[in-house]
Amino acid sequence: MSYLASDADSLSDVAGGHAAMSERGPESEKRDRHRRLEREAYDAIVIGAGVGGLTAAALLARRGAAVLVLDQHYVAGGQCTVFRRRQYEFDVGLHSIGACSPEFEIPRILAAAGVSDLPLLPLDRDGYDTYVFPDFAFREPVGVDRFHKRLVELFPAEAAGIERFVRFMCQA
Ligand SMILES: Cc1cc2nc3c(=O)[nH]c(=O)nc-3n(C[C@H](O)[C@H](O)[C@H](O)COP(=O)(O)OP(=O)(O)OC[C@H]3O[C@@H](n4cnc5c(N)ncnc54)[C@H](O)[C@@H]3O)c2cc1C
Repeated sequence: MSYLASDADSLSDVAGGHAAMSERGPESEKRDRHRRLEREAYDAIVIGAGVGGLTAAALLARRGAAVLVLDQHYVAGGQCTVFRRRQYEFDVGLHSIGACSPEFEIPRILAAAGVSDLPLLPLDRDGYDTYVFPDFAFREPVGVDRFHKRLVELFPAEAAGIERFVRFMCQA
């Protein structure tokens, strides 16, 4: 599987590969060094190197297809990346995932893509995210029942609304 990051140009330009590159001259060739393609033809071209595109590409590659993944950004991962400001690291999006027990989807998808030894850390069941507001904080626990109970403890006057909210969320 090859991965090619574009700077800002259109994908059709990037997909043009060597031809588009050689028209630009030596300076831009240097800048566009990541555009060099390993081969002339691919069985599949995946647009977007987020977790969805990368998963599709990995599954195809695992089955022997020659796959090219293109992304407009210079970092692969889409919303599954981080950025840094001073000493802090921020998740762009994803920070934890569910369905990681052996009988669920994530290990099955990883295994199908040839990954079997990825270390997964369990979430703190009592609170894996803390939402901090000026006058209160809410630690989000694992499990709908515990989540429901904790919200009601914090906002007893809203018990009926919370009940409706949780029921609605469980239908999704
Ligand atoms: C703030 C936030 C928190 C989240 N937290 C969680 C969480 O804790 N757990 C969880 O499971 N999920 C979470 N999610 C959701 C999860 O991050 C996304 O569902 C998932 O990352 C989406 O993956 P994707 O591959 O579908 O899309 P993306 O990650 O968006 O990837 C799309 C990729 O395509 C590229 N692209 C788009 N258009 C083009 C184009 N025209 N040409 C070239 N490249 C293109 C983009 O640059 C990007 O790299 C969160 C999302 C957000 C925003």
